[in-house]
Amino acid sequence: MSFEARLARYAELTVRVGLNVQPDQRLVVRAPIEAVELTRAVVAAAYDSGCRYVDVIWSDEHLQRIRLEHAPRDSFEEYPDWRMDGLLSCAERGDAFLSISGNDPDLLKGQDTDLIAKVRKIEAQKGEPFGKLISRSAINWCVTSAAVSPWAARVFPDVKPEKQVERLWDAIFSACRVDLPDPTEAWQVHIKELERRRAYLNAKGYDALHYTAEGTDLTVGLPEGHLWCGAAEKSEAGIVFAPNIPTEEVFTMPHCRRVDGTVASTKPLNYSGALIEDFTVTFAEGKVVDVSAKANEAVLKKLVETDDGAGRLGEIALVPDSSPISQTGILFYNTLFDENASSHVALGRAYSICLQRGAGMEDAALNEAGGNTSVVHVDFMIGSNRMDIDGLSADGAREPVMRNGEWAFEVQT
Ligand code: ZN
Ligand code: ZN
Repeated sequence: MSFEARLARYAELTVRVGLNVQPDQRLVVRAPIEAVELTRAVVAAAYDSGCRYVDVIWSDEHLQRIRLEHAPRDSFEEYPDWRMDGLLSCAERGDAFLSISGNDPDLLKGQDTDLIAKVRKIEAQKGEPFGKLISRSAINWCVTSAAVSPWAARVFPDVKPEKQVERLWDAIFSACRVDLPDPTEAWQVHIKELERRRAYLNAKGYDALHYTAEGTDLTVGLPEGHLWCGAAEKSEAGIVFAPNIPTEEVFTMPHCRRVDGTVASTKPLNYSGALIEDFTVTFAEGKVVDVSAKANEAVLKKLVETDDGAGRLGEIALVPDSSPISQTGILFYNTLFDENASSHVALGRAYSICLQRGAGMEDAALNEAGGNTSVVHVDFMIGSNRMDIDGLSADGAREPVMRNGEWAFEVQT
Protein backbone atom coordinates (compact mmCIF):
# COMPACT_ATOMS: atom_id res chain seq x y z
CA MET A 1 0.00 0.00 0.00
CA SER A 2 1.32 3.47 -0.85
CA PHE A 3 2.26 5.94 1.86
CA GLU A 4 -0.61 8.21 0.79
CA ALA A 5 -3.11 5.34 1.14
CA ARG A 6 -1.82 4.44 4.62
CA LEU A 7 -1.88 8.09 5.66
CA ALA A 8 -5.49 8.36 4.46
CA ARG A 9 -6.40 5.25 6.50
CA TYR A 10 -4.72 6.70 9.58
CA ALA A 11 -6.54 10.02 9.08
CA GLU A 12 -9.85 8.20 8.69
CA LEU A 13 -9.19 6.14 11.82
CA THR A 14 -8.44 9.35 13.72
CA VAL A 15 -11.61 11.05 12.53
CA ARG A 16 -14.04 8.12 12.74
CA VAL A 17 -12.80 6.08 15.73
CA GLY A 18 -10.67 8.62 17.61
CA LEU A 19 -12.93 11.67 17.35
CA ASN A 20 -16.10 10.09 15.98
CA VAL A 21 -16.87 13.44 14.37
CA GLN A 22 -20.61 13.83 13.92
CA PRO A 23 -22.37 15.17 10.84
CA ASP A 24 -22.85 18.93 11.29
CA GLN A 25 -20.19 19.15 14.01
CA ARG A 26 -17.27 21.54 13.67
CA LEU A 27 -13.69 20.42 14.27
CA VAL A 28 -10.69 22.33 15.63
CA VAL A 29 -7.27 20.83 14.79
CA ARG A 30 -4.05 21.89 16.47
CA ALA A 31 -1.07 20.79 14.40
CA PRO A 32 2.64 21.49 14.00
CA ILE A 33 3.59 22.92 10.61
CA GLU A 34 5.71 19.81 9.95
CA ALA A 35 2.53 17.68 10.05
CA VAL A 36 0.96 19.36 7.03
CA GLU A 37 0.40 16.13 5.07
CA LEU A 38 -1.43 14.35 7.88
CA THR A 39 -3.37 17.51 8.71
CA ARG A 40 -4.64 17.84 5.14
CA ALA A 41 -5.63 14.15 5.12
CA VAL A 42 -7.49 14.63 8.43
CA VAL A 43 -9.33 17.70 7.11
CA ALA A 44 -10.43 15.74 4.03
CA ALA A 45 -11.56 12.77 6.14
CA ALA A 46 -13.48 15.11 8.49
CA TYR A 47 -15.41 16.75 5.65
CA ASP A 48 -16.08 13.29 4.19
CA SER A 49 -17.61 12.38 7.57
CA GLY A 50 -20.05 15.28 7.32
CA CYS A 51 -18.09 17.81 9.35
CA ARG A 52 -19.38 21.37 8.72
CA TYR A 53 -16.16 23.27 9.21
CA VAL A 54 -12.57 22.39 10.10
CA ASP A 55 -10.39 25.07 11.67
CA VAL A 56 -6.65 24.38 11.79
CA ILE A 57 -4.42 26.15 14.32
CA TRP A 58 -0.81 25.77 13.17
CA SER A 59 2.12 25.90 15.52
CA ASP A 60 5.88 26.08 15.07
CA GLU A 61 7.73 24.74 18.08
CA HIS A 62 10.94 26.56 17.12
CA LEU A 63 9.22 29.77 18.19
CA GLN A 64 9.45 28.49 21.79
CA ARG A 65 13.22 28.17 21.56
CA ILE A 66 13.56 31.51 19.78
CA ARG A 67 11.51 33.19 22.52
CA LEU A 68 13.69 31.70 25.26
CA GLU A 69 16.81 32.93 23.49
CA HIS A 70 15.68 36.38 22.35
CA ALA A 71 12.72 37.68 24.37
CA PRO A 72 13.22 40.17 27.26
CA ARG A 73 14.19 38.29 30.42
CA ASP A 74 11.22 39.66 32.38
CA SER A 75 8.63 38.88 29.69
CA PHE A 76 7.94 35.19 30.23
CA GLU A 77 4.58 35.67 31.86
CA GLU A 78 3.13 37.15 28.65
CA TYR A 79 0.34 34.99 27.27
CA PRO A 80 -2.03 35.30 24.27
CA ASP A 81 -5.32 35.11 26.19
CA TRP A 82 -7.45 35.39 23.05
CA ARG A 83 -6.34 31.94 22.00
CA MET A 84 -7.69 30.31 25.13
CA ASP A 85 -10.90 32.38 24.89
CA GLY A 86 -11.27 31.09 21.34
CA LEU A 87 -10.78 27.45 22.33
CA LEU A 88 -13.32 27.82 25.14
CA SER A 89 -15.94 29.33 22.86
CA CYS A 90 -15.42 26.48 20.36
CA ALA A 91 -15.81 23.96 23.20
CA GLU A 92 -18.99 25.67 24.40
CA ARG A 93 -20.42 25.32 20.90
CA GLY A 94 -19.64 21.56 21.10
CA ASP A 95 -16.85 21.43 18.50
CA ALA A 96 -14.62 18.35 18.34
CA PHE A 97 -10.89 18.83 19.09
CA LEU A 98 -7.87 17.11 17.62
CA SER A 99 -4.26 17.64 18.66
CA ILE A 100 -1.64 16.31 16.30
CA SER A 101 1.64 15.89 18.11
CA GLY A 102 5.04 15.63 16.51
CA ASN A 103 7.92 17.34 18.17
CA ASP A 104 11.66 17.42 18.66
CA PRO A 105 12.31 15.73 22.03
CA ASP A 106 15.53 17.76 22.37
CA LEU A 107 14.15 21.13 21.25
CA LEU A 108 14.82 22.95 24.52
CA LYS A 109 18.04 21.18 25.43
CA GLY A 110 20.45 23.57 27.15
CA GLN A 111 17.82 26.31 27.69
CA ASP A 112 17.25 27.92 31.07
CA THR A 113 15.11 25.45 33.06
CA ASP A 114 13.76 28.24 35.34
CA LEU A 115 12.41 30.15 32.35
CA ILE A 116 10.95 26.98 30.81
CA ALA A 117 9.25 26.16 34.11
CA LYS A 118 7.82 29.69 34.26
CA VAL A 119 6.46 29.47 30.71
CA ARG A 120 4.98 26.00 31.32
CA LYS A 121 3.34 27.15 34.54
CA ILE A 122 1.67 30.15 32.88
CA GLU A 123 0.54 27.95 29.98
CA ALA A 124 -0.87 25.41 32.42
CA GLN A 125 -2.64 28.07 34.52
CA LYS A 126 -4.14 29.89 31.53
CA GLY A 127 -5.05 26.61 29.87
CA GLU A 128 -6.70 25.15 32.96
CA PRO A 129 -10.36 25.94 32.06
CA PHE A 130 -9.95 24.17 28.73
CA GLY A 131 -7.90 21.38 30.35
CA LYS A 132 -10.76 20.76 32.75
CA LEU A 133 -13.27 20.41 29.90
CA ILE A 134 -10.97 17.88 28.28
CA SER A 135 -10.31 15.95 31.48
CA ARG A 136 -14.02 15.53 32.13
CA SER A 137 -14.64 14.58 28.45
CA ALA A 138 -17.10 17.43 27.98
CA ILE A 139 -16.44 17.23 24.24
CA ASN A 140 -15.14 14.56 21.86
CA TRP A 141 -11.40 15.01 21.47
CA CYS A 142 -8.37 13.04 20.35
CA VAL A 143 -4.59 13.19 20.32
CA THR A 144 -2.67 11.52 17.54
CA SER A 145 0.86 11.82 16.17
CA ALA A 146 2.79 12.69 13.03
CA ALA A 147 6.33 11.61 12.19
CA VAL A 148 8.56 14.68 11.97
CA SER A 149 12.28 14.64 11.18
CA PRO A 150 13.90 15.65 14.52
CA TRP A 151 11.70 13.16 16.35
CA ALA A 152 12.48 10.41 13.79
CA ALA A 153 16.20 11.17 14.12
CA ARG A 154 15.98 10.72 17.89
CA VAL A 155 14.12 7.40 17.60
CA PHE A 156 16.25 5.95 14.77
CA PRO A 157 19.75 7.45 15.11
CA ASP A 158 21.31 4.50 13.26
CA VAL A 159 19.07 4.74 10.21
CA LYS A 160 20.16 6.89 7.24
CA PRO A 161 18.75 10.42 7.70
CA GLU A 162 16.66 10.27 4.51
CA LYS A 163 14.98 7.06 5.75
CA GLN A 164 14.27 8.06 9.36
CA VAL A 165 10.87 9.70 8.87
CA GLU A 166 9.68 6.76 6.78
CA ARG A 167 10.76 4.34 9.53
CA LEU A 168 8.90 6.36 12.14
CA TRP A 169 5.73 6.42 10.02
CA ASP A 170 6.02 2.61 9.68
CA ALA A 171 6.26 2.31 13.47
CA ILE A 172 3.29 4.66 14.00
CA PHE A 173 1.15 2.83 11.46
CA SER A 174 1.94 -0.56 12.99
CA ALA A 175 1.36 0.66 16.58
CA CYS A 176 -2.00 2.09 15.43
CA ARG A 177 -3.08 -1.10 13.59
CA VAL A 178 -3.28 0.88 10.31
CA ASP A 179 -1.76 -2.01 8.31
CA LEU A 180 -4.37 -4.58 9.37
CA PRO A 181 -6.93 -5.50 6.68
CA ASP A 182 -9.70 -3.53 8.42
CA PRO A 183 -8.21 -1.05 10.92
CA THR A 184 -11.57 0.30 12.05
CA GLU A 185 -12.87 -3.21 12.83
CA ALA A 186 -9.57 -4.09 14.58
CA TRP A 187 -10.01 -1.01 16.77
CA GLN A 188 -13.58 -1.93 17.70
CA VAL A 189 -12.39 -5.40 18.84
CA HIS A 190 -9.49 -3.88 20.77
CA ILE A 191 -11.73 -1.32 22.47
CA LYS A 192 -14.13 -4.12 23.56
CA GLU A 193 -11.27 -6.11 25.13
CA LEU A 194 -10.14 -3.06 27.13
CA GLU A 195 -13.74 -2.47 28.20
CA ARG A 196 -13.90 -6.00 29.65
CA ARG A 197 -10.71 -5.38 31.64
CA ARG A 198 -12.21 -2.15 32.99
CA ALA A 199 -15.44 -3.91 33.93
CA TYR A 200 -13.53 -6.64 35.82
CA LEU A 201 -11.49 -4.11 37.81
CA ASN A 202 -14.55 -1.96 38.50
CA ALA A 203 -16.42 -5.01 39.84
CA LYS A 204 -13.46 -5.80 42.14
CA GLY A 205 -13.33 -2.29 43.59
CA TYR A 206 -9.89 -2.81 45.16
CA ASP A 207 -8.87 -0.63 48.09
CA ALA A 208 -5.27 -0.41 46.87
CA LEU A 209 -2.75 -1.80 44.38
CA HIS A 210 0.68 -3.01 45.39
CA TYR A 211 3.44 -2.76 42.75
CA THR A 212 6.72 -4.65 42.93
CA ALA A 213 9.59 -4.67 40.44
CA GLU A 214 13.29 -3.89 40.44
CA GLY A 215 13.56 -0.58 42.32
CA THR A 216 9.81 -0.44 42.93
CA ASP A 217 7.82 -1.23 46.05
CA LEU A 218 4.79 1.02 45.95
CA THR A 219 1.34 0.87 47.50
CA VAL A 220 -1.26 3.05 45.82
CA GLY A 221 -4.54 3.59 47.67
CA LEU A 222 -7.66 3.86 45.52
CA PRO A 223 -10.49 6.21 46.51
CA GLU A 224 -13.93 4.88 47.27
CA GLY A 225 -16.01 5.03 44.09
CA HIS A 226 -12.99 5.08 41.76
CA LEU A 227 -13.72 4.03 38.18
CA TRP A 228 -11.40 2.31 35.73
CA CYS A 229 -11.56 4.04 32.35
CA GLY A 230 -9.86 3.58 29.02
CA ALA A 231 -10.09 3.14 25.26
CA ALA A 232 -13.45 4.78 24.64
CA GLU A 233 -15.24 7.53 26.49
CA LYS A 234 -18.56 9.30 26.10
CA SER A 235 -18.79 13.08 25.75
CA GLU A 236 -21.47 15.14 27.44
CA ALA A 237 -23.34 15.14 24.12
CA GLY A 238 -23.27 11.31 24.21
CA ILE A 239 -20.62 10.88 21.48
CA VAL A 240 -18.45 7.77 22.01
CA PHE A 241 -14.84 8.58 21.15
CA ALA A 242 -11.31 7.20 21.69
CA PRO A 243 -9.23 10.11 23.01
CA ASN A 244 -5.84 8.59 22.27
CA ILE A 245 -4.71 6.92 19.06
CA PRO A 246 -2.94 4.65 19.88
CA THR A 247 -4.24 3.52 23.26
CA GLU A 248 -3.58 0.33 25.21
CA GLU A 249 -4.25 1.44 28.79
CA VAL A 250 -6.94 1.11 31.42
CA PHE A 251 -6.54 3.78 34.08
CA THR A 252 -8.05 5.19 37.23
CA MET A 253 -7.34 7.81 39.89
CA PRO A 254 -5.23 6.99 42.90
CA HIS A 255 -6.07 8.42 46.30
CA CYS A 256 -3.77 11.46 46.39
CA ARG A 257 -3.07 11.09 50.14
CA ARG A 258 -2.61 7.29 50.21
CA VAL A 259 0.49 6.56 48.12
CA ASP A 260 3.54 5.13 49.93
CA GLY A 261 6.86 3.68 48.84
CA THR A 262 9.23 4.05 45.92
CA VAL A 263 8.69 3.67 42.20
CA ALA A 264 11.42 3.41 39.55
CA SER A 265 10.95 4.65 35.98
CA THR A 266 11.48 2.14 33.18
CA LYS A 267 11.69 4.67 30.34
CA PRO A 268 13.05 8.22 30.15
CA LEU A 269 10.55 11.06 30.56
CA ASN A 270 10.55 13.83 27.98
CA TYR A 271 9.43 16.94 29.90
CA SER A 272 9.91 20.60 29.02
CA GLY A 273 12.27 19.63 26.24
CA ALA A 274 14.58 17.75 28.62
CA LEU A 275 14.96 14.01 28.93
CA ILE A 276 14.78 12.85 32.55
CA GLU A 277 16.48 9.45 32.76
CA ASP A 278 16.72 6.53 35.22
CA PHE A 279 14.74 8.14 37.99
CA THR A 280 12.97 7.09 41.17
CA VAL A 281 10.23 8.89 43.08
CA THR A 282 9.46 8.19 46.75
CA PHE A 283 6.09 8.97 48.34
CA ALA A 284 4.84 9.19 51.92
CA GLU A 285 1.13 9.67 52.58
CA GLY A 286 0.66 10.61 48.95
CA LYS A 287 3.31 13.33 48.78
CA VAL A 288 6.63 13.09 46.93
CA VAL A 289 9.35 13.17 49.58
CA ASP A 290 12.35 12.31 47.44
CA VAL A 291 13.35 12.18 43.77
CA SER A 292 16.56 11.14 42.12
CA ALA A 293 17.55 10.90 38.46
CA LYS A 294 20.69 10.01 36.51
CA ALA A 295 19.94 12.84 34.06
CA ASN A 296 18.00 16.10 34.48
CA GLU A 297 17.19 15.61 38.16
CA ALA A 298 16.74 19.40 38.45
CA VAL A 299 13.96 19.34 35.84
CA LEU A 300 12.19 16.56 37.76
CA LYS A 301 12.51 18.51 41.03
CA LYS A 302 11.03 21.62 39.37
CA LEU A 303 8.18 19.53 38.00
CA VAL A 304 7.15 18.11 41.40
CA GLU A 305 7.35 21.58 42.93
CA THR A 306 5.08 23.26 40.33
CA ASP A 307 2.25 23.20 42.91
CA ASP A 308 1.13 20.90 45.73
CA GLY A 309 -0.62 18.47 43.37
CA ALA A 310 2.40 18.18 41.07
CA GLY A 311 4.06 16.27 43.91
CA ARG A 312 1.22 13.73 44.12
CA LEU A 313 -0.19 11.10 41.78
CA GLY A 314 -3.29 11.75 39.68
CA GLU A 315 -3.39 8.66 37.45
CA ILE A 316 -2.39 5.02 37.49
CA ALA A 317 -2.62 3.04 34.26
CA LEU A 318 -2.14 -0.63 33.45
CA VAL A 319 -0.71 -1.77 30.10
CA PRO A 320 0.39 -5.34 29.41
CA ASP A 321 3.99 -5.76 28.32
CA SER A 322 2.73 -7.69 25.24
CA SER A 323 0.98 -4.60 23.79
CA PRO A 324 1.91 -3.99 20.13
CA ILE A 325 3.78 -0.79 21.01
CA SER A 326 5.83 -2.52 23.70
CA GLN A 327 6.61 -5.31 21.26
CA THR A 328 8.07 -2.90 18.69
CA GLY A 329 10.84 -2.51 21.28
CA ILE A 330 11.16 1.09 20.14
CA LEU A 331 11.63 3.90 22.63
CA PHE A 332 9.57 6.67 21.04
CA TYR A 333 10.61 9.57 23.32
CA ASN A 334 6.94 10.56 23.07
CA THR A 335 4.49 10.00 25.91
CA LEU A 336 1.54 9.07 23.71
CA PHE A 337 3.46 6.04 22.46
CA ASP A 338 5.70 5.21 25.38
CA GLU A 339 2.87 5.38 27.92
CA ASN A 340 0.96 2.87 25.84
CA ALA A 341 3.91 0.50 25.86
CA SER A 342 4.05 0.37 29.62
CA SER A 343 2.12 0.57 32.85
CA HIS A 344 2.50 4.14 34.07
CA VAL A 345 1.52 6.72 36.65
CA ALA A 346 1.05 10.47 36.33
CA LEU A 347 2.03 13.29 38.63
CA GLY A 348 -0.61 16.01 38.84
CA ARG A 349 -4.26 16.36 37.98
CA ALA A 350 -6.59 13.37 38.22
CA TYR A 351 -9.26 12.77 35.59
CA SER A 352 -12.57 13.48 37.32
CA ILE A 353 -14.28 10.89 35.10
CA CYS A 354 -12.36 8.27 37.13
CA LEU A 355 -14.70 8.84 40.07
CA GLN A 356 -18.39 7.98 40.32
CA ARG A 357 -20.32 11.26 39.87
CA GLY A 358 -16.91 12.94 39.51
CA ALA A 359 -17.42 14.53 36.08
CA GLY A 360 -17.77 18.26 36.57
CA MET A 361 -17.09 18.01 40.32
CA GLU A 362 -15.55 21.13 41.90
CA ASP A 363 -11.85 20.81 42.74
CA ALA A 364 -12.45 20.97 46.50
CA ALA A 365 -14.95 18.10 46.40
CA LEU A 366 -12.75 16.06 44.05
CA ASN A 367 -9.78 16.55 46.34
CA GLU A 368 -11.83 15.66 49.41
CA ALA A 369 -12.75 12.37 47.68
CA GLY A 370 -9.05 11.64 47.06
CA GLY A 371 -8.70 13.02 43.53
CA ASN A 372 -5.57 15.06 42.93
CA THR A 373 -5.72 18.63 41.63
CA SER A 374 -2.86 20.46 39.92
CA VAL A 375 -2.11 22.56 36.87
CA VAL A 376 0.08 19.74 35.47
CA HIS A 377 -0.50 16.14 34.41
CA VAL A 378 2.72 14.31 33.51
CA ASP A 379 2.86 10.56 32.83
CA PHE A 380 5.92 8.42 33.40
CA MET A 381 6.54 4.77 32.69
CA ILE A 382 7.05 2.17 35.38
CA GLY A 383 5.99 -1.13 33.77
CA SER A 384 8.19 -3.96 32.54
CA ASN A 385 8.08 -7.71 32.09
CA ARG A 386 9.33 -7.94 35.65
CA MET A 387 6.52 -6.04 37.32
CA ASP A 388 3.96 -7.75 39.55
CA ILE A 389 0.82 -5.98 40.73
CA ASP A 390 -1.57 -7.19 43.42
CA GLY A 391 -5.04 -5.91 44.17
CA LEU A 392 -5.66 -5.39 47.89
CA SER A 393 -9.19 -5.51 49.24
CA ALA A 394 -10.34 -3.49 52.24
CA ASP A 395 -10.44 -6.74 54.31
CA GLY A 396 -6.75 -7.34 53.56
CA ALA A 397 -7.22 -10.02 50.87
CA ARG A 398 -4.64 -9.95 48.07
CA GLU A 399 -5.16 -11.07 44.43
CA PRO A 400 -2.88 -11.00 41.40
CA VAL A 401 -3.72 -8.30 38.84
CA MET A 402 -0.53 -8.54 36.77
CA ARG A 403 2.35 -11.01 36.78
CA ASN A 404 5.58 -10.39 34.90
CA GLY A 405 3.92 -7.46 33.20
CA GLU A 406 0.93 -9.43 31.87
CA TRP A 407 -2.72 -9.55 32.97
CA ALA A 408 -3.15 -12.18 35.68
CA PHE A 409 -6.92 -12.55 35.27
CA GLU A 410 -9.10 -13.83 32.44
CA VAL A 411 -11.94 -11.98 30.78
CA GLN A 412 -14.33 -13.38 28.22
CA THR A 413 -13.36 -12.45 24.64
ZN1 ZN B 1 -2.39 7.18 30.92
ZN1 ZN C 1 -1.95 10.47 31.76
